[in-house]
Amino acid sequence: QAKLRGRAQICGYEPSMQTQLSWRLEMEQALRLALVEGQLSIAFQPQLDQGERIIGGEALMRWKHPRHGWVSPEVFIAIAEESDLIVELETWMLERCCELLARLPASVLPRLSVNISVRHFTQPGFVEGLTWVTGTHGIDPARLVVELTESIMIDGLEDAIERMQALKRLGVHLALDDFGTGFSSLSYLKSLPLDELKIDRSFVSSLDTDCNDAAIVETVLAMAQHLGIDVVAEGVENEAQRQFLLQRGCGLYQGYHFHRPMLVEAFETLLMGQGVAPVTGSAMSA
Ligand code: C2E
Ligand code: MG
Ligand code: MG
Ligand code: MG
Repeated sequence: QAKLRGRAQICGYEPSMQTQLSWRLEMEQALRLALVEGQLSIAFQPQLDQGERIIGGEALMRWKHPRHGWVSPEVFIAIAEESDLIVELETWMLERCCELLARLPASVLPRLSVNISVRHFTQPGFVEGLTWVTGTHGIDPARLVVELTESIMIDGLEDAIERMQALKRLGVHLALDDFGTGFSSLSYLKSLPLDELKIDRSFVSSLDTDCNDAAIVETVLAMAQHLGIDVVAEGVENEAQRQFLLQRGCGLYQGYHFHRPMLVEAFETLLMGQGVAPVTGSAMSA
């Protein structure tokens, strides 16, 4: 979308609805093909505890278009979300993640986080699908963290809670992603069966330069502690930010300061390099 807008500015005209529509259709068809032709991959970004030990990672989808090169997930996920293509893409993603979890013991890779679109989350067979995929790979569903955004409440709070509870019964962990960017009302937080909150990187990446963002992050941390919800700070880019978060009790960290998203081979090497977690480690309960 931004790309289209940018192009329009250069050319000095607004692309017609027709142009936009045909571009989207073209991209959607290309994306369908991408799945069959192996153009999709997954990048893993490590998540660390307070002692900087890697306790898991977030799986992030990547697409290399044969002609256009790397397409931003912000762009292609939005296109996939317009149809059930997103369900196919995320089902593929879940399969790969369960394979990785099955290959690595929990002592090496305690958990993996996956982003699930609201369209997929509200799909009738979603919980059954998750039950099946974790079951066939023989992995403990508690090693999966399902990241949802505030848009899950689009059909109303009651429906969202019901669906989330079904997931909780399966045993998976639930995270609220990009916290603070949606139609955030703090009051609904206490009614959602959440395990963790991910503070959006727009607040984290500027907390050392913008005192308003620092105040927001501080408040979110205090509130989450009261509610007994873990906090993941995403977009931690320097040591000053890490110190600020650590001093206020933030439990989990993700950001370029530690690691960028990486290929699965590099991720595995990193995990192997830090050895097996001590039995008394708290990583498993995270
Ligand atoms: P997200 O779920 O909030 O993922 C975090 C994004 O922040 C990732 O961008 C990651 O690369 C980036 N990031 C992490 N640390 C830093 C940092 O220190 N500085 C900066 N500047 N950025 C950082 P990425 O990989 O481009 O993904 C963008 C978004 O695309 C994700 O945001 C997520 O909303 C979406 N996405 C990716 N894969 C999937 C998927 O399989 N399903 C769905 N529904 N969405 C996905
Ligand atoms: Mg996420
Ligand atoms: Mg996020
Ligand atoms: Mg996001």
